[in-house]
Amino acid sequence: MRLILLGPPGAGKGTQCKRIIDKYGMAHLSSGDILRDERAAGTELGAKAQGYMDSGELVPDDLIIAMMAGAMAKAAGNYVLDGFPRTVVQGEGLDSALAGAGEKIDAVVNLVVADEVIAARLTGRRSCPKCGAVYHVENLKPKTDGKCDKGCGDLVQRDDDKPEVISNRLKTYHTQTAAVVGYYESKGNPIITVDADRDIDVVTAAVLAELDDVSA
Ligand code: ADP
Ligand code: AMP
Repeated sequence: MRLILLGPPGAGKGTQCKRIIDKYGMAHLSSGDILRDERAAGTELGAKAQGYMDSGELVPDDLIIAMMAGAMAKAAGNYVLDGFPRTVVQGEGLDSALAGAGEKIDAVVNLVVADEVIAARLTGRRSCPKCGAVYHVENLKPKTDGKCDKGCGDLVQRDDDKPEVISNRLKTYHTQTAAVVGYYESKGNPIITVDADRDIDVVTAAVLAELDDVSA
């Protein structure tokens, strides 16, 4: 299956992707995680991306499209895209790469959450830099405060989960990314719209119920 998860920052894309891959055994291709890995490894791409990420702007389309094409090539047609595409240009780049290989996206899931909910989600987010697990200080607490449940060590707060960057990320979402939903609608892709302002397990149940039909 080839899936796309859309939604604003903090909608729960990464959280739901982990549960989707647990069930269907696909690769989780998070453009944000890949960029953070590039930065940690000190690559040229990581250095180019740094300033955009720290200020809540989008990394240029050409860099992202090339990066994700490389990741998809390794995933053998069984993946969920998280955080990509984030512009209509990226959607077009993805579609032309897929069409060239005779492939298509099987489902687009759009997680819908109001802006007012997002700030509390992002300021409370804590992530494991080693395994990528995502927690929340109130909504999804680790068993031991500040430590990853899988024994990896300390959890961290992302630098871009600070209030001043969050407001710019939301602005970026509304001006550049929200239109991606309309892009897929106009292409005739069925969009699975899920109210993501509900308990994490309730959202998971709603997403998986829809995906069972897609994978059948
Ligand atoms: P995204 O990948 O869309 O940016 P995450 O999956 O990282 O979002 O979730 C952002 C934060 O919100 C995390 O701390 C996560 O634990 C929490 N979260 C995710 N889904 C929900 C939900 N349905 N209700 C409450 N908190 C949630
Ligand atoms: P995320 O982990 O998805 O919240 O992404 C963190 C940051 O990485 C974003 O604020 C952007 O600066 C950058 N980024 C991630 N994915 C993309 C993308 N598809 N296009 C452009 N920039 C991206």
